[in-house]
Amino acid sequence: MTIVNHLIHGELTAGTGRSADVFNPSTGAATKKVALADRATMQLAIDSAKSAFPAWRNTPPAKRAQVMFRFKQLLEQHEATIAKLISEEHGKTIEDAVGELKRGIENVEFACAAPEILKGEYSRNVGPNIDAWSDLQPIGVVAGITPFNFPAMVPLWMYPLAIVCGNCFILKPSERDPSSTLYIAQLLIEAGLPKGVLNVVHGDKEAVDALIEAPEVKALSFVGSTPIAEYIYSEGTKRGKRVQALGGAKNHAVLMPDADLDNAVSALMGAAYGSCGERCMAISVAVCVGDQIADALVEKIVPQIKALKIGAGTSCGLDMGPLVTGAARDKVKGYIDAGVAQGASLVVDGRDLVVAGNENGFFVGGTLFDKVTPEMTIYTDEIFGPVLCIVRVGSLEAAMQLINDHEYGNGTCIFTRDGEAARLFCDEIEVGMVGVNVPLPVPVSYHSFGGWKRSLFGDLHAYGPDGVRFYTRKKAITQRWPQRASHEAAQFAFPSNG
Ligand code: NAD
Repeated sequence: MTIVNHLIHGELTAGTGRSADVFNPSTGAATKKVALADRATMQLAIDSAKSAFPAWRNTPPAKRAQVMFRFKQLLEQHEATIAKLISEEHGKTIEDAVGELKRGIENVEFACAAPEILKGEYSRNVGPNIDAWSDLQPIGVVAGITPFNFPAMVPLWMYPLAIVCGNCFILKPSERDPSSTLYIAQLLIEAGLPKGVLNVVHGDKEAVDALIEAPEVKALSFVGSTPIAEYIYSEGTKRGKRVQALGGAKNHAVLMPDADLDNAVSALMGAAYGSCGERCMAISVAVCVGDQIADALVEKIVPQIKALKIGAGTSCGLDMGPLVTGAARDKVKGYIDAGVAQGASLVVDGRDLVVAGNENGFFVGGTLFDKVTPEMTIYTDEIFGPVLCIVRVGSLEAAMQLINDHEYGNGTCIFTRDGEAARLFCDEIEVGMVGVNVPLPVPVSYHSFGGWKRSLFGDLHAYGPDGVRFYTRKKAITQRWPQRASHEAAQFAFPSNG
């Protein structure tokens, strides 16, 4: 069976740790094994990154950016291979895999601007013959720990920017779908990245703990579920590391009575069922303001859910593939059982879906609940599956209160033709990313991505301008070069221009 190996100091190696099965979720079969790093293997990667740092730190930003230009070309050239690898291990459709890769490439494009984004600020004559400037310096060895649901895009949120900022990076991808992540990293080596600047080490808790505890690792970027985000944030910051930990979500879409319903339904279909609901920005709750819009939504959306084209992700022209693992499928079905037991109205039931020819795949069909209330677990918890819940409320204020009371605050959106309602929503909703008639308001690469409340631990958002701040340390330099040597008497009052 193929083993997905680590990439340490530019070489593939199995290391000395354990291994785990990697599945094809469309067939349910274990198709590969992935090496799981022990502490000794992780230390090899840390040593490699540390040894590469002095030279990389002093490489001109324009040269670092040139590697990223070549990387972008290679990513585009190998789009089909990467999309197939994603789909084979994650289960998402080929078109969806291409979409995630393209959004990842946008982060590489942003990193290509390294000389511009690292310029700092300069002031001449802040005092007599004194100039001052700020320098954005790299941190050193930094690490990223990424989730299964975007094996290409989320790592690309992190390491291109960290690396052009002059850092050396250790990536610990999800062990559930590691092949596309490894393949992409190999393309960066092919683009000319020196050995050790990027190392990819697969693993589970043991590997992550080794990164948290290593004094050489100065910063950690994490994306994944909230309990692990909280763990990494608290353990990392306790050790004096800079940590940015993005967690889970429960994203609400508000449907106002004046919404353009046909377009809102199309938007909800893609946002709730795309990628089988395994997106941190997936819409999983439709909050309908008034029974009239709720009834109209149910009438229009039910036939579309029943018509979803579901099958092996690697086939083209589908709407939805399977969930990532058998455990994920069982968890989603368990939530649907709980929704029924807790009294929600199950309008479309995806539990019994069987895909002909792929009977052992990890499939759950599109599911819709109506009349969901805030105490139900299908409302409180992140299900991470193709389940949309309708909650009925009486006013925009009640809809906003519901959203603001939820523990997560990643994304949200409002469907309306009313500018006043949209403005109030944008101003007062306690969520990090907001869409107005846009269901998945994922910021483009030159803005930054991040939720509020228990969807993000840390001060800065991911990628874009906040990413530059996260991966650099600011140094303020004040310099005097008197025009000719002259003696100045000691000055005991605090220096000022007064
Ligand atoms: P996960 O938390 O299970 O795993 C994420 C990473 O943490 C993986 O690399 C995994 O190996 C590692 N990990 C798992 N258990 C660990 C432990 N006990 N100690 C240390 N490390 C551990 O998440 P997942 O299932 O891969 O991804 C889905 C979750 O990620 C969802 O909650 C989703 O909302 C979230 N997510 C959030 C964002 C965001 O931007 N906020 C983006 C994508 C995914």
